[in-house]
Amino acid sequence: MITVGLDIGGTKILGALVEEDGTILTRGRRDTPAQDPAGIVAAAADLTAELAADHDVAGAGVAVAGFLDRARERVLFAPNVAWRDEPLRARLADLVGLPVVLENDANAATWGEFVHGTAAEANDLLFLTIGTGVGGGIVTDGALLRGAFGVGAEVGHIRVVPDGRLCGCGVHGCLEQYASGTALLRSARRLVDSGAPEAAVLTEMCGGDPSALTGQDITAAAMEKDPASIGLIAELGRWIGAGAASLTAVLDPEIILIGGGVSTAGDLLLEPAREAFAENITGRGFRPYGTMLFAGLLDDAGVMGAAALAREAGRR
Ligand SMILES: [Zn+2]
Repeated sequence: MITVGLDIGGTKILGALVEEDGTILTRGRRDTPAQDPAGIVAAAADLTAELAADHDVAGAGVAVAGFLDRARERVLFAPNVAWRDEPLRARLADLVGLPVVLENDANAATWGEFVHGTAAEANDLLFLTIGTGVGGGIVTDGALLRGAFGVGAEVGHIRVVPDGRLCGCGVHGCLEQYASGTALLRSARRLVDSGAPEAAVLTEMCGGDPSALTGQDITAAAMEKDPASIGLIAELGRWIGAGAASLTAVLDPEIILIGGGVSTAGDLLLEPAREAFAENITGRGFRPYGTMLFAGLLDDAGVMGAAALAREAGRR
């Protein structure tokens, strides 16, 4: 069975034609007309038709960067796209003439890793994607955890610091305020701003302008053995590990996958993350616990997960 997977984000729509075993036959992309809901559906339909041409396609799965209703018919809200209670599933299905399933983008990526990626042998998965925020998803006993209202598994918004930094979600002290790429940049910029001698390498990289500093700069400096950058990435890793430990108390996952651009930091991130994870496990020393690894599918996770969900819907 061949299905189409789409991943609609705030700036681009990624698409792939995917075989049963996860092989990607064709890829495509469109820009997202983020302020034009009808234009987004048209672009998604156009990309689906392009990918499906000359193939017997059973359906399309669509990952969307927004909250879905429980029936996964409508996008209730999307922070970066002008969807407000948008009946996306039916509109797209009408245009493409195929069965369509919707999924939250983080859940779709989690499902991609679960079915085709690094976690393909596991039954219980915790996926943490480290980017601007901390996203991710949960598979428990072989099924995606969506919650009673379809908006569960917001792993970045568990509180790790009472009365801590204010989060975009309206609560203080969420994990994503400490364990995200944004948090890494904030710490690095503060260090450059301080004029401390150990900030010399980063200061030179950004030409003395902390706002010009990027996550890639910090990783590159750490790879070149800049102690301050190594320390910043280790601090990020420790927050990720501590957050994973708290989530493990509830979920007891077999695999904890770390996704996002931070994987380029390799062991500079993963070792401190694993150490903090082990240190903060409930009942440590007296229990088994999951293995922490980097996710393997990178940007393909969303389209592969969406295509897999379409395939499963086609079997029902
Ligand atoms: Zn939050």
